[in-house]
Order: sequence, then structure tokens, then C-alpha cells
Amino acid sequence: MPEKRAKDCYEIILNHGCDLACGFCSQADFAPGAKTSLEDALRHIHAAKKAGCRRLGFSGGEALLRSDLPALAAAARRAGFDIVRLQTNGMKLSDPALAAKLAAAGLTVCKFTFLGRSAKVHDGLTGARGSFKKSLAGLDNILALKLAVGVNLLITRRNYRRLKTILKFFMDRGVSSFVLIYPIYVGRMAVNAKKLGVSLPKVSPYAAAALDFARAAGLDGAVKALNMPPCMLPGYERKSVDIYKFNTMVASPLGKRWDLDKNAEMERRRGPVCRGCLFRKDCLGVDARYLEIFGWKGFEPVRAPAARRELKPEPGYLSGLEKCFLEVLARENAIPTARVLELARQIPLCHDCKDGTRVLSTGESLVKRGLVERTFKGAKFIWRLR
Ligand code: SF4
Repeated sequence: MPEKRAKDCYEIILNHGCDLACGFCSQADFAPGAKTSLEDALRHIHAAKKAGCRRLGFSGGEALLRSDLPALAAAARRAGFDIVRLQTNGMKLSDPALAAKLAAAGLTVCKFTFLGRSAKVHDGLTGARGSFKKSLAGLDNILALKLAVGVNLLITRRNYRRLKTILKFFMDRGVSSFVLIYPIYVGRMAVNAKKLGVSLPKVSPYAAAALDFARAAGLDGAVKALNMPPCMLPGYERKSVDIYKFNTMVASPLGKRWDLDKNAEMERRRGPVCRGCLFRKDCLGVDARYLEIFGWKGFEPVRAPAARRELKPEPGYLSGLEKCFLEVLARENAIPTARVLELARQIPLCHDCKDGTRVLSTGESLVKRGLVERTFKGAKFIWRLR
């Protein structure tokens, strides 16, 4: 059960089994039949809340193989969690009734894993023909329900040159939050390292191009990179999740629990190149298993953050905050800032809108885009749709 000092997030792995057989799966070595019992999951939920965790996550394997997931999401909301997240391949969400049931139960955030923007690449890596189509239908169902949606994009040899176009594909579909995930070489990814692996220095310029595109589209804050140290993200060094604390506790179906930050400390290595790096205090280095395969070739310390180049704006994209603001005004138009904030708390689309300052800056950005009008009345700003 959770420690006395609260983590920000508590993640419950509900099962190791999955309806896919992805060529990069890090859990492929784990007991596929292992499940966290309903009673244990409920115990974790209540103890995590009692310990002060702010967010609760469900993952697997594939957590949607659990028919009790709606009941668990509802239990998490009843326990007082405002943010209840599911990590999934999304296939089962192609059933609109299940998607709606989860939303009604109180799920607020859904994170999908995608491997490309085509069935050829995605299905080729999942080992299941039709999986891309199903996961995409699941994504569309959850977007339509206006839950907060994120796409985790797993980087492999098959997609790294197309990260920008993949990002655009999902942004065009309405996704505004992404994590570019460089794989770790365990489970099937260790077995398939030669076939699917690509070194970080090779990925680096393509990741930067994807981040350029997101910035040009006004979604600079919406894309992060995991398992990619700052030196591999020139101009976007601080987009590396690796320099921040996960502040997350994970509970597994085998009864184990671990602190993600302690795990990262054990698995990462710094090299001689890190000595002269601007990020040497915050960056834990590179995964040891990566180094066994690719070594330090191509790494250079960050002496100063790389300059960002001028970009031509890519219009037409909205951040999660902006979408939430528009949804609020679609429900109730011509309202003051405090009411926007009040209604925003009822919409899971975005869970970042915690104060009036955020509302003001988001509203101003929408005024500039010509989507919202702001007037001043009775010492208050009044916001309305244009
Ligand atoms: S500390 Fe090492 S791994 Fe981390 S950003 Fe600097 S050079 Fe790269």
C-alpha cells in the first residue's frame, strides 16, 4: 500500500495479459495470466487517496480486458480522485457503448499507444491485422466523448523518419497531447532490437522536426519525449520527461510495488560526455540496456540550449485548454471568468485549468484567433463565442 509521503500519481497495473503481441512489448516476459484482484485494486485506490495521491491510473497489459474497469473507474471517482486515467491500446473502445460506459463511470483521461499513422506499420508491429482500424475507432469515440486524450507514440526503426507526419495525422484528428516514447530494450524489444531498434542520435533530428511542427501549430506545451535525454532534443531540451520526477508509485498484479523515480535511477547511466553538460544535475543519463547495444556514439553534452528557428505558423490546431474553453462557452455563453473556471471543472477535456490566470491566458489566445470575444462589464471580463 502507498507510503506515508504521497506521490502525485498512483498507477495500478490491472493485468499483464493483452489482446495484442507487440514486437516491442516490455511486459512480454511477465506472467500473462497475472491479475490484480478487484479487492486489491479497490484497496490500492482507497489507500492511494488516503496517502494524498492526486491522480490515479489504470494500465496493463491491456486494462480493457477487465470487465470490472468501469466499476473501478467509478470507485476511484467515489474515493475522490478528479483525475482517473487509462493507458490502453484502445481496441476495445471501438465499441461506443463501452467507451460511453467508462466516461459515465468517471474516466477522465485516456492515453492511447500508436505506432504509426497507417495500418501497415501499426498492425505490422502489433501482430494483429485490423488493430489500427479498431484503435483509431476507439480514439475517435473517446474524442467524441470529450475526455482528455493523449497519444503515446512508440518510436521504432519503422516510423522514426515520419514522426512529424504521424503527429500531424493525430493532430488533424483532434489529439492535442503527445508523448514521443523511445523504447527500452527489455522483453520483446530486447529480442527485436536489431529489427526495430534505432539509435537515439538517428532519431534526434526527426523528433526535433516533430516538435517544430507542434510549436508551429501552437501546441508547444503538448508534446513531450520519454527516454530521450535533453542532448537528443536540440532546441527542446526541456521537453525531455527524463529530467523531471515521475512522482509515481506503481502496483503490479504480482503484488510488487515500485517508485518510478527509484527505478529510473537504477536503470540509467551517465557517461564521460555528461560531465560537461548543462543538464548533468537533472538528467540521470541513458538507459543501461540502450548503452549495451548502441553505446555513447553520437552523444554531445549540452553546453547551452540550442536556438529555436523561426517557423511558419500552422493554423487550425487547438490546445486541450482552448478546446475546453470553447466547450464551456458552447454550453453556456457570455459568462465571467469565474463561471468559465467552474464549468471547466465539469469537463474532463482538460485537467490543467486550475486557476483564473490559465482561463485568462487561454481566453486571450482564443480572442487573438478570432474564436472568442471578450468584453468588460461590471468590473468583470465576459467571454462569449464569436
Ligand atoms: S547529462 Fe548526459 S545524457 Fe543527459 S543530456 Fe547531458 S549529455 Fe545527454
